[in-house]
Amino acid sequence: MNWQQIKKTNFTSVEALAGYLGIPIPKHPFPLNIPRRLVEKMKKGTTEDPLFKQFVITEAEFLKDPSFKEDPVDDAAFLKAPKLIKKYKGRALLTTTSACAMHCRYCFRQKFDYQKGDFEAELNAIRQDPSIFEIILSGGDPLSLSDQKLSLLLTDLSAISQIKLIRFHTRFPIGIPERINENFLKLLSTIPKQLIFVIHCNHPTELDQDILSALKKISQLGIPVINQSVLLKGVNDSVSVLKELCLTLAANGILPYYLHQLDRIQGAQHFEVDSSIGLKLIDILRSELPGYAVPKFVAEIPHQPSKTPLHALNRLESQNLKPLLQNSSCQLG
Ligand code: SF4
Repeated sequence: MNWQQIKKTNFTSVEALAGYLGIPIPKHPFPLNIPRRLVEKMKKGTTEDPLFKQFVITEAEFLKDPSFKEDPVDDAAFLKAPKLIKKYKGRALLTTTSACAMHCRYCFRQKFDYQKGDFEAELNAIRQDPSIFEIILSGGDPLSLSDQKLSLLLTDLSAISQIKLIRFHTRFPIGIPERINENFLKLLSTIPKQLIFVIHCNHPTELDQDILSALKKISQLGIPVINQSVLLKGVNDSVSVLKELCLTLAANGILPYYLHQLDRIQGAQHFEVDSSIGLKLIDILRSELPGYAVPKFVAEIPHQPSKTPLHALNRLESQNLKPLLQNSSCQLG
C-alpha cells in the first residue's frame, strides 16, 4: 500500500475504535483520526496508555475552563495573508493544509480557520517583505500534501532569493512513515534551499524502527532532523519517559529541540502540567543526559518576540521583573 492508501485505513470511527480497544469512546466535534500503526501500539481495555491519551477522545475534553481558549496563541492577530502567519522577525509560517495524519487531542489549531486554495496571496506577501528569510511549512501537516503540490510550493519558495531556509513542521512520519518514500526523498534532494525537518514526538512508544529509518533517510540528505514535544500530563511528565525519548531520538541522530508548555486550547485542560514541574524535569534531565540531548523548555506567550525560554522567565520572575508576563496565559509556580 502507498501512504495515501495507508492513510485511508486510519481509525476515524468512534464505534470501530471502541470495539477494537474494548473501551467506550464519546463523540466530539474535533473528530477522531488515528493511524493504525499508533492504535496497534495502544494497550487494549485501558485509558492509561500514553498513545490513547494523546489521540483518543475522553470525557475530560467536554469540561469547560474559561482560561482555555479557541485560539490560545492568538494566531488570528498575526495573519499577513489568509494562510500566512508572521509572529517573529525573519520567520513566517504557512498553514499549507488543514489535514493531518492524526488528530492530537491537545492540538492548538483545532479551531483554526483554515483557508483553501493556492498560495499566490501568501507568496506575494512573502515577496513584499524582504525581512523574511525562513518559511515554516505547517498546517495541519505539510506532508498531507501530495508530492506534486509540495514540489510546486517548494519551487515557488525557492525562487524567492531572500528565502534562505525552509522548515517542515510535521508529525506525519510518526503515524505513517511510509510517507517518506523514494519520490519524496528525491523531491527534497532537488530543493536548492536549506531544508530543516522538525518532527513532533512526545513519547518513546510512538517511535519504532520504520519511523527512525525513514527519518534517517532525510538526515542523509543533509537535512537536520530535530524534534519538538509538548509536556502532557499522564503522557510524558516524568524523568524516565522524557529521558528515554530524548536518548532514543539522540541515538538516532534526531536532536531534541523544544519541550513546549501546553498551549491552552479549549478542552485540553486535563493535559496541563504546572510549568514549575517542567522546569524541574529539565533540570534533572540536564544531570542525566548530554546537553545536546536536553530540549529547551519553552512556552508560546502571545505577542512576545520569540518562544519564551521558561528557565529564563523563571529567573526574571524570581527577580520580580514581572512585565514580561503581561498578556501571558502561562502559569509559573
Ligand atoms: S499533527 Fe500537529 S497540527 Fe495535526 S492535530 Fe496533531 S498537533 Fe495538530
